[in-house]
Amino acid sequence: MQVVIAHADPGTLSRFVRVLSHVGHEVRALATAAEAIDACRERPPDVVLVDVELCRDDGQDLLAELKGDPDAYRSAVVLLERHDLDLDAAVSALRGGAQDFLVEPVSDAELVARVDAAGRTKVLQEELVAQSRRLETLIFEDVLTGLANRRSILTSLNGMVSGARRHHRPLSVAIVDIDHFKLINDRQGHAAGDRVLSAVAGNLRRNLRAEDQVGRLGGEEFLALLPDADAPAAATAAEKLRACAGTAGVTVSIGWATWEGETAEELLRRADEALYAAKAAGRDRVEGARATVPRRT
Ligand code: GH3
Ligand code: MG
Ligand code: MG
Repeated sequence: MQVVIAHADPGTLSRFVRVLSHVGHEVRALATAAEAIDACRERPPDVVLVDVELCRDDGQDLLAELKGDPDAYRSAVVLLERHDLDLDAAVSALRGGAQDFLVEPVSDAELVARVDAAGRTKVLQEELVAQSRRLETLIFEDVLTGLANRRSILTSLNGMVSGARRHHRPLSVAIVDIDHFKLINDRQGHAAGDRVLSAVAGNLRRNLRAEDQVGRLGGEEFLALLPDADAPAAATAAEKLRACAGTAGVTVSIGWATWEGETAEELLRRADEALYAAKAAGRDRVEGARATVPRRT
């Protein structure tokens, strides 16, 4: 484990360094709080052990500096008290992010045990954070294309429908389906099919606005959400998406629909009908859903 120690008393400092190095930790020893802060910023350790005497003037500062740092905040801070621990000071330090206290005199064994415990907690915490990031990715992301997966894009659609209703704003959706994709798999193999899917996904993402969202509904079918797009804007966006598919070596058919106050499911159903019409009309084309209420032009 990496440990940074700051202590005003050279004798204590060298004993701590000796003990912690002896059990295998990599120790950096410093004589002031400011140097400790610099060392932690430069390379955040697992544990920071600080003599509170060093913090008398800028004591809360050390905690605040470390806990406010984008990297160093992860280090576990253990404060070394010279005398009895004052309750109010302890509570305030704990709230400020201190992990533990040691009251001097500290035996070698106690020092080792507490530094180990603080370091282990910090490492476990980091593992938990990393694991929940991985899980989040699995839950929301389509593994092959990196786009939002079906669950995620449909959740976004529900949110956008709700927002459009509340703020009386336009909203359109487009379903993009690769033409004759089965032939690519059959002729060039599944791996080539996967590469085409990734390429089309990338093209879609790059040709949409930052505020738009796109996800993989399943197979070779994608859904683009176009907030604030009325029918003409949706037709333009869909045509752009159709045109960009070509660089992936395939053509796509697209059905789009503009929200008319209905549920997300109904909106999708109309876009899907339009997609079906585009397929029936010969593929490599864009069809807009028929408006159930006449559109103002
Ligand atoms: P159409 O022009 O009517 O859309 O024809 P199509 O061949 O694109 O449509 P169809 O639904 O008949 O075939 C879709 C194919 O997509 C069949 C399936 O094996 C393939 N597929 C679905 N998911 C994946 C995937 O993750 N990777 C690959 N390589 N192929 C997939
Ligand atoms: Mg298809
Ligand atoms: Mg399909």
